[in-house]
Amino acid sequence: MIRDRNGCIWYKGNLHTHTTLSDGRLTPEESAALYRARGYDFLAFTDHWKPSENRVDESGLLLLSGAEYDFGRNVREGVYHVVAIGCERDPQITRAESSVEGAQAAIDKIHEAGGLADLAHPAWSMNSLDQLLPLRGVDLTEIFNSVSDLPRNCRPYSGGEIDRLAARGVFWKTAAVDDTHWYGELDAARSFVYVKAEECTREAVLAALRRGDFYSSQGPRLDARFDRSTNAVRVRCEAEDDIRSIVYFTDAVWTNHRADVGERLTESVFRLTGRETFVRVEVRDAAGRYAWSQTFAV
Ligand SMILES: [Zn+2]
Ligand SMILES: [Zn+2]
Repeated sequence: MIRDRNGCIWYKGNLHTHTTLSDGRLTPEESAALYRARGYDFLAFTDHWKPSENRVDESGLLLLSGAEYDFGRNVREGVYHVVAIGCERDPQITRAESSVEGAQAAIDKIHEAGGLADLAHPAWSMNSLDQLLPLRGVDLTEIFNSVSDLPRNCRPYSGGEIDRLAARGVFWKTAAVDDTHWYGELDAARSFVYVKAEECTREAVLAALRRGDFYSSQGPRLDARFDRSTNAVRVRCEAEDDIRSIVYFTDAVWTNHRADVGERLTESVFRLTGRETFVRVEVRDAAGRYAWSQTFAV
């Protein structure tokens, strides 16, 4: 948990975690202890096809219920991994013949069970726009998925997919997650969300995720706001985070100046030209760790 310069509290959490209940290396107890020791306030256990329950463990760590459901045999028919977060009961999801129909039914059942539907790692799944646009009701997707990165995998970053969706008017909330399996240096306690909520309860965290009162990070703190009256985005960073770049992503592809580069960057303002339909921000620190804002519809 961190407190920002305005006194607001942001809870730290990982929304995508595997354990020995499916193909993860640590037991739920060991995983919870690792994340608690790294300063996390909440964690969702999302084992493959094995729904977990909402509870608070003895250390005070909020455990959100979850499970991951996969549909599709290859990238041509579409590979969809749908993660349920915070359901009040087992959403009773079943396998399906058609991958897109299976994914849509999963999203609908997650909502009926009171949870959020996360369309996991679209870059890793090689999801095309044609495969993503038919989906209805996706609450969030993953801009970064730690386990898809080195040392074992590829395509951890889904910013391209998120931007192409936004350019078509589809604004899913974006979260960085670990998708922890190996509990190595690069897939555990690396990519997370900071959620601005009144308290660290299932209800408050889910409500903040629905509202979009959260951002993604690997370390840097980020305050990014879009002001519609001035048509500008203002970014504030902390000097001790040593931010080296602040980059503004939009669909105006020929914008010449969309990045600030330097050392210990703390302030930046980006004025839109009037040609953009969305804008989002990525900052990177001296160690190469990112923070990502939500995507703002212009
Ligand atoms: Zn997956
Ligand atoms: Zn997973």
